[in-house]
Amino acid sequence: MFSKYDLIVVGAGHAGCEAAAAAANLGSSVLLITMNMGTIAQMSCNPAMGGVAKGQIVREVDALGGYSGIISDKTTIQFRMLNQSKGPAMWSPRAQIDRMRFAEEWRLALERTPNLDLWQDNVVGLLVKDDTVYGVKTSLGIEIESKAVVLTNGTFLNGIIHIGEKKFGGGRTAERSSTGITEQLVELGMEAGRMKTGTPPRVDGRSLDYTKMDEQWGDQDRGKFSFTDTELPTDQRCCWITYTNSEVHETLKEGFEKSPMFTGRIKGLGPRYCPSIEDKINRFAERDRHQIFVEPEGWNTCEIYVNGFSTSLPEDVQFKALRQIPGFEQAKMFRPGYAIEYDFFPPTQLSLTLETKLINNLFLAGQINGTTGYEEAACQGFMAGINAHQKINDKHELIMKRSESYIGVLIDDLVTKGTEEPYRMFTSRAEHRLLLRQDNADIRLSPIGHQLGLISDERLEKVNQKIANADALVKFTRTQGIEMADANPMLESLGSSELNQNVKLHSLVSRPQVGLLDLIKVSKPLAEKTSTLDKETIEQAEIKIKYESYFEKENEIVDKMMRMEDKEINPDFDYNKIVSISKEAREKLFKIKPRTLGQASRISGVSPSDISVLMIYINK
Ligand code: FAD
Repeated sequence: MFSKYDLIVVGAGHAGCEAAAAAANLGSSVLLITMNMGTIAQMSCNPAMGGVAKGQIVREVDALGGYSGIISDKTTIQFRMLNQSKGPAMWSPRAQIDRMRFAEEWRLALERTPNLDLWQDNVVGLLVKDDTVYGVKTSLGIEIESKAVVLTNGTFLNGIIHIGEKKFGGGRTAERSSTGITEQLVELGMEAGRMKTGTPPRVDGRSLDYTKMDEQWGDQDRGKFSFTDTELPTDQRCCWITYTNSEVHETLKEGFEKSPMFTGRIKGLGPRYCPSIEDKINRFAERDRHQIFVEPEGWNTCEIYVNGFSTSLPEDVQFKALRQIPGFEQAKMFRPGYAIEYDFFPPTQLSLTLETKLINNLFLAGQINGTTGYEEAACQGFMAGINAHQKINDKHELIMKRSESYIGVLIDDLVTKGTEEPYRMFTSRAEHRLLLRQDNADIRLSPIGHQLGLISDERLEKVNQKIANADALVKFTRTQGIEMADANPMLESLGSSELNQNVKLHSLVSRPQVGLLDLIKVSKPLAEKTSTLDKETIEQAEIKIKYESYFEKENEIVDKMMRMEDKEINPDFDYNKIVSISKEAREKLFKIKPRTLGQASRISGVSPSDISVLMIYINK
């Protein structure tokens, strides 16, 4: 029934979809097997993409040729660029998404991708011989062969759902869990762990009183994720903000004795930065209210996602507490919140290509590696799909540097340091975040996507044109002056000190309060120069003018660090040869098998003095 595939991807979540699309677009024959074709790219929790650091990841995946950005743009119901009052390294695109449309667009995109077949089934095991995977077994008793396999099982491996004292098997609400894979991999020698996450109840939007809540609209001049010319919805939907109060907290506390978290029934560690409402009340007892974001689930549904109210308390307690929130007095619940525990594989068992060290040609991506979040999953899937394709075709692997992308930071963190709790991306995890901005993801990464064959010549040419146009505009501002009389009224209105002599445009843009768009309104030559340029090119030029000196300093630091970072270590290096490193360092170095001295230096337990000794051996 099935011929042999180049690649089988297990699971059509955010990781699996990107993995399958990337490998197929590179030319591999791909079979994407997923339990339920009705839930392809299902957003298990919040209907939103992006946010702080996560938005940068979506832009990076897009710049490399992935689909998440395009699909998010097509299905956005509200867009906001977060942190715009801070420096550009912190600007983070975030979109409220139509959950059903997102899944539909992903499915259509996969159906339109050549070389990609779909099969609805439950994978229960892997075909492994001589430490190499060569296919999968399904619950229908079918064996399908392939040269490589990417596992992206998300929260489904031995998933257990908890609502109060009730617990039952499931990979997500109303979906069954997956058994067999963990057991087989553990038997083969891999280590597995347990994590947990949770989600809030969903309510009927028709039962809410929005007059008691604050409106929250998207950006008027809205941005987007994708660097392509995808058509965007013209309209946006409103979201709302309301707050819990001490009454709500008291009601929730009544359920604590039945809480699976507090009674110890849940063993796995949850995401610290996405705590449940009961966790928040417990940990921040001094706070008498918590913010609740009231978010529509789409254009054509009245279902509302109650962001900030994640809970696994009994459903009657959830209901009673919800109705004490202003605006929710008559709320009808569509679905209760719940917590889920699932298996993951500590990611230190992977190499930087996301291939397992134990089983050749087996790659793991997404929540199965201990991460949380659609964006974190999507970028891993994308990288695993590429690297699986490259490996089976004897092509070079794609490993991103920490100074090159958030994707590089994420994978290096996972593989080198591992994670004890669900890992999510933050800007603070990236030491070179000044360089890893959302605005320059295309400039940083499109050449890599092009070299792989995922970005067209035309698209790369557009990026090169953007760079050239932005540079030319910066140059223009250095030579073009502005008269005091033209500039001063504008400067006054922006709260910036007035001029007492004519200056070059560049010196005004260097001021924090003044932007190129302000100057375009008062400088005719600048208006003419920029008349054919798009918003992103003008923004790029402005960021360069304002922050160039900081970028130069950061680049110098990166160059210095690269000398150590790039020093390669043979994966088979025998650390027993080095007597003067600590026992712990030796064990960890053998386990992680770092590829560079830089990676070795980030392994916990490997000290700077161990690195100095290692450096001597490597230089020999
Ligand atoms: P998933 O999206 O889980 O997709 C896995 C896919 O694999 C599914 O399609 C499934 O059907 C399929 N599959 C699994 N096993 C098999 C098998 N054996 N055979 C065939 N198909 C299989 N993230 C946040 O950032 N913040 C949150 O607050 C948050 N809360 C969450 C709450 C809940 C209840 C859940 C379930 C998830 C939550 N997440 C949250 C996590 C987010 O949903 C995931 O990080 C993201 O979906 C992971 O993507 P993935 O592709 O790795 O896996």
